[in-house]
Amino acid sequence: MVGEPLAVGQRDRRELPVRRGVQLDRQPPPVGIEVVAHGALSRLRARVSRRRRGANRRPSRDRRHHSPTCAFRLNAHLRVSSGARRLSRVNTPFTEEPAWEVVVVGAGPAGLTAATYLARFRRRVLVLDGGPSRAEWIPESHNTPGFPHGVGGPDLVARMRAQAVAFGAVVRPGRVDSLEAATDGLRLDGTFGTMEVPAALLATGVVDHLPPIPGVEAAIRDSRVRMCPICDAFEAIDRRIAVLTDGDLGEREAAFLRTYSADVEVLRIGEAEGCPGMQIALEDLRLEAQGVVLRRGGQPERRFDHLYLALGCAAQSDLAVAAGARQDELNNLIVDAHQMTSVDGLYAAGDVVRGLNQIAVGVGEAAIAATAIHNRLRGAG
Ligand SMILES: Cc1cc2nc3c(=O)[nH]c(=O)nc-3n(C[C@H](O)[C@H](O)[C@H](O)COP(=O)(O)OP(=O)(O)OC[C@H]3O[C@@H](n4cnc5c(N)ncnc54)[C@H](O)[C@@H]3O)c2cc1C
Repeated sequence: MVGEPLAVGQRDRRELPVRRGVQLDRQPPPVGIEVVAHGALSRLRARVSRRRRGANRRPSRDRRHHSPTCAFRLNAHLRVSSGARRLSRVNTPFTEEPAWEVVVVGAGPAGLTAATYLARFRRRVLVLDGGPSRAEWIPESHNTPGFPHGVGGPDLVARMRAQAVAFGAVVRPGRVDSLEAATDGLRLDGTFGTMEVPAALLATGVVDHLPPIPGVEAAIRDSRVRMCPICDAFEAIDRRIAVLTDGDLGEREAAFLRTYSADVEVLRIGEAEGCPGMQIALEDLRLEAQGVVLRRGGQPERRFDHLYLALGCAAQSDLAVAAGARQDELNNLIVDAHQMTSVDGLYAAGDVVRGLNQIAVGVGEAAIAATAIHNRLRGAG
């Protein structure tokens, strides 16, 4: 959908797909073109030129990037279609890099919520987006606060991103490869090069262990295969349920699921000796349009409406652990009451932290972390 650049001040009236008030471009804006709030352009230019004049001046620790009238600078390809905030694409080269006060690593619900808070605290905040959020697997969530009729994961993440960007957070593709303590904060290395920031928030989530069953990803997206009984067991009441496991997690999840359905079978793969359940080979399972079929040797065929995976996940905590952060036995980060890890200035929120892997928990932790970071930067923490 990105075509010729528009003249300065001209609105882009080309139609974009609209989902619940959020318009999505299919591609990022072309290089050198930023998306800015309509009407904020002259203030933005004045600020850029002021910055250029004082380019060699080092910003103080607590210097803010917003004027009281809060010009929005957006470099993402999302536009919020609210009447009060009409955004237009303009042909404005914007090459100067601000001195970031906070870098948020990860653009899932936790990272984007922290970015919204930090931007509203008028901090220069950069979000590095290393790839899809786990939330983008969610076909429809019914326990996310504020959505009584449910919300799809991709839609939710797009809304959270639009909200962060609307208040001035900058979200960019980028992966952090390493992180360490530096003289005045933290040094990050990655696809963007090297940068030093006073504080950083790790919201890198977890990666689920998926079995190599053909079609498993599509089956997660349409809810035949599931990974989170806390999230969606309500939508499996009285259904035929199988739980696939390679350890003792399967029986614990099955016990939880039996409060929703009497028909719950644990299927065991691998060498999970001593664990309850029916031993099967992965090849015995087939994903079909209406559910999951189990065929074992001469045994009668079994059909299930849902297959829950109880195969665990890997916390994406290596960056912090390599920098000296403490973790628990499952590699989840251990944080204090303000969400700070044992590395000074490094905070963490969401699934990567020990606790319940839920959106409501992650965004709550993000709010606490963002507030603590802001207080720290203003010298009150
Ligand atoms: C099928 C399914 C259904 C679910 N349903 C629900 C539900 O209904 N309700 C609910 O509350 N929860 C649900 N969840 C859980 C929910 O998705 C997670 O709790 C939530 O996404 C965690 O958010 P997060 O921001 O901590 O991590 P994530 O959403 O996983 O985001 C982490 C981000 O960090 C990025 N990243 C990782 N490493 C790096 C790096 N080195 N550099 C840069 N970026 C990096 C990743 O690419 C990703 O974008 C579900 C999960 C699944 C899989």
